[in-house]
Amino acid sequence: PVRVRFAPSPTGPLHIGGVRTALFNYLFAKKHGGTFYIRIEDTDQTRFVAKAEDYIFEALDWLGISPDETIGKNEKFGPYRQSDRKHIYKQYADELIESGWAYYAFDSSEKLDELRKQAETDGKTFIYNHTVRETLDTSLNVSREIVEARITNGEHYVIRFKTPVNETLHLQDIIRGEVNFETNLLDDKVLFKSDGMPTYHLANIVDDHLMETSHVIRGEEWLPSMPLHVMLYRAFGWEAPEFAHLPLILKPVGNGKLSKRDGDKLGFPVFPLQWTTAEGTSKGYKEAGFFPEAVINFLALLGWNDGTEQEIFSLEELVNKFDLKRIHKSGAKFDPEKNKWFNHQYLQKQTNESLAKAFQITLNEKGITTSLDIERVVGSIKERANFVTEFWDLSDYFFEAPTSYDEKAAKNWKEETPELMKQVMVQLQNIEDFTSLNIETLLKGWMTTNEIGMGKVMQPLRLSLVGALKGPHLFDIIEMIGKAETISRIEKAIA
Ligand code: GLU
Repeated sequence: PVRVRFAPSPTGPLHIGGVRTALFNYLFAKKHGGTFYIRIEDTDQTRFVAKAEDYIFEALDWLGISPDETIGKNEKFGPYRQSDRKHIYKQYADELIESGWAYYAFDSSEKLDELRKQAETDGKTFIYNHTVRETLDTSLNVSREIVEARITNGEHYVIRFKTPVNETLHLQDIIRGEVNFETNLLDDKVLFKSDGMPTYHLANIVDDHLMETSHVIRGEEWLPSMPLHVMLYRAFGWEAPEFAHLPLILKPVGNGKLSKRDGDKLGFPVFPLQWTTAEGTSKGYKEAGFFPEAVINFLALLGWNDGTEQEIFSLEELVNKFDLKRIHKSGAKFDPEKNKWFNHQYLQKQTNESLAKAFQITLNEKGITTSLDIERVVGSIKERANFVTEFWDLSDYFFEAPTSYDEKAAKNWKEETPELMKQVMVQLQNIEDFTSLNIETLLKGWMTTNEIGMGKVMQPLRLSLVGALKGPHLFDIIEMIGKAETISRIEKAIA
């Protein structure tokens, strides 16, 4: 059965790349009737950020991609937080020592620094592997008694993986196909430390095994760890899961990887929810007014498509169409403008009722009380909006008479205009059935009969009511603001 996981480290807010990883795991699980679980990988205590874990769950909850199993939910393979599984890992590190796949290393950090510096002066990079391990302070070079005595004495140690020599690993990645690694170029990674904590590598593969993970779907930055992980499965005699490494998400301009800082620099969010620290607040999609469905949609297309031109997908459609084999190998450009376009599309799909509810919050904040039909106002302007936050600027003239008039547009205000507007007021005054279509028919009829050009009336009239030559159908505006308000605005404009 398909069992996949999202395994974030709570070191800060979940970046958009992490959210995409979670989404692809979710889609893959649902597509195959499998299980999507979340495991918190918090073994690196130096990088731990307290509120990051809550953030991860809140963000995924907002986006509607909830796990089938996690902390506090169907804990079949629990605990789901690695710091709560601390007692599990030591025995696996010991097992590798016993089988000869790992060894103790007692080197001080000073010694390692020295070796690194030496290598640097020789124009090389220091790799802790078969070339040096026999000459360093490890359990490979002293008797078992001495090693045990040093450990009992409380000396600091780490347990390192003993990478095999002279092997080429031919590994399979679902997205990349065959990927090859030379073991001689790999270092003997630390698996466990004397503070009782495993490193990411050990905890990750032990948990993926114990939690019966069938596929590891994660970002490309973990591809270099794949050989170690596969060798660890082999060393334990476990069957390895299948791997799929997702392409990088690239900056909108240039070629680099999209970074957490790009959001603040370029003024668009790269986090699902806003994140505040002492240094300030980084924007979030939620607060910026994105619909969660729009975010899901544009994330799904970062590195994937269904092979057609289709761009708008509901979560359900994504589940049906998702296929790991259709994920691209090359990086996916992040495009803030396109993301706004997605939000625009989803905004059009909302009911006027729900948009009016959202807009009412802004109106309340501005202290606007009105008898206007907000649903109708919203319905008349939404096609110009990407976000509900833009509604006020697009519709303020419905609620407040203009206080200034667009200068360019005022050029259409001729000498005879005030006189014409007075006649318009008289016409309006006489209309009983004050509805858009009726107003339009009567006013246009009056203009035709008196041979008054449309432009001479319509533009100054719009300018009087709106303050600029913008907005929806003029007669709709007139009906909506009502007879009294329309006349008062014209009076004000000709005064
Ligand atoms: N804890 C790792 C991370 O923060 C998980 C990588 C993996 O999925 O193996 O991304």
